Amino acid sequence: MKTLLVTGGAGFIGGNFVLDVLALGGYHIINLDALTYAGNLHTLASLRDDGRHRFVHGDIGDRACVRALLDEHAPTAIINFAAESHVDRSIDGPAAFVQTNVVGTLNLLECALAYWRALPLDRQDAFRFLHVSTDEVYGSLGPVGRFTEESPYQPNSPYSASKAASDHLVRAFHHTYGMPVLTTNCSNNYGPFQFPEKLIPLMIQKALAGEPLPVYGDGRNIRDWLYVKDHCAAILRVLEIGRVGEVYNVGGDAERENIHVVKTICALLDERRPLADGRRRETLITHVRDRPGHDRRYAIDASKLKRELGWRQTESFESGIARTLDWYLDNQAWVQRVLDGSYRMERLGDVQAGAQDHP
Ligand code: NAD
Repeated sequence: MKTLLVTGGAGFIGGNFVLDVLALGGYHIINLDALTYAGNLHTLASLRDDGRHRFVHGDIGDRACVRALLDEHAPTAIINFAAESHVDRSIDGPAAFVQTNVVGTLNLLECALAYWRALPLDRQDAFRFLHVSTDEVYGSLGPVGRFTEESPYQPNSPYSASKAASDHLVRAFHHTYGMPVLTTNCSNNYGPFQFPEKLIPLMIQKALAGEPLPVYGDGRNIRDWLYVKDHCAAILRVLEIGRVGEVYNVGGDAERENIHVVKTICALLDERRPLADGRRRETLITHVRDRPGHDRRYAIDASKLKRELGWRQTESFESGIARTLDWYLDNQAWVQRVLDGSYRMERLGDVQAGAQDHP
């Protein structure tokens, strides 16, 4: 049994990772999460009686808390998912992004370094610090080309700037102190348990309710979509056999315009839950003012991960989006709990205002 310290494991990707890794077996997980508006213990409800999972309500920036967890549980690896993750919120309030994504990650690194240095040599060799990051650090692409691990960093939003800073700190801890780090930069994720402020779950909820579907600008911005469980499998692969100090890009080879994503959701929902008045949901699409500094296109070249570590995505965009839609239809109770605030630390009003102001 290996013990992992997972941060942000009550969020979307971290929650899926915790569930998937425990389903595979062979791991204990200490799950450190501050339960911001994006953290949701209901995602982890199936683990309530699972002795292999321990949830700790705490902040990655809390030195005493992180040190105590490392001393008590002696993990073989730290996987850092904890972050403020929503670009629109970073436009309204960048400071929280710097606090968690930069200062919090630095604290985690400093605690990890002290812990790692004190380990016996064989355990030092086995230890890993895996930092989960985003393709948004590379900036925006024109119509052609894809981001590789060698692409220059050109973050354009406060979110991506804060993630870029954390990536640089992780890199520096390897080069300066020799700490065994790994970094993954992934494209847009979608799938079960995603907070309904992000494009896909937001559109599913609004389309289900027959409400207007607000699409930023002309809707032609392109993202490379990856089903979350494929991302989780990639992270585990990098953790287990990735080369120390390396960066691995993770992507789904699934570039789609936002408008295509929304129309796909409309068509799938029309099949499964036709509107009572017979209208097609595409007619609900409303173009709204674009996000300031909205990156035009992201595309990821994940060939290093495939070539070196043998990872492959299992879902196409079409299969993944259908699976995701069905999950949301089957799990409306989860969505309602998220939206009514009963499983979060933050008030309902803040989240609804966020969703309406920044659809
Ligand atoms: P999320 O917002 O759904 O979850 C973040 C989690 O971190 C929440 O549970 C939150 O409570 C927790 N958290 C926030 N601040 C914390 C703190 N100071 N201490 C401890 N916990 C804290 O985010 P997500 O979409 O699951 O993203 C997870 C990671 O993956 C992030 O680092 C993000 O940058 C990265 N990423 C996300 C995507 C994507 O499409 N969602 C793509 C690539 C990379």
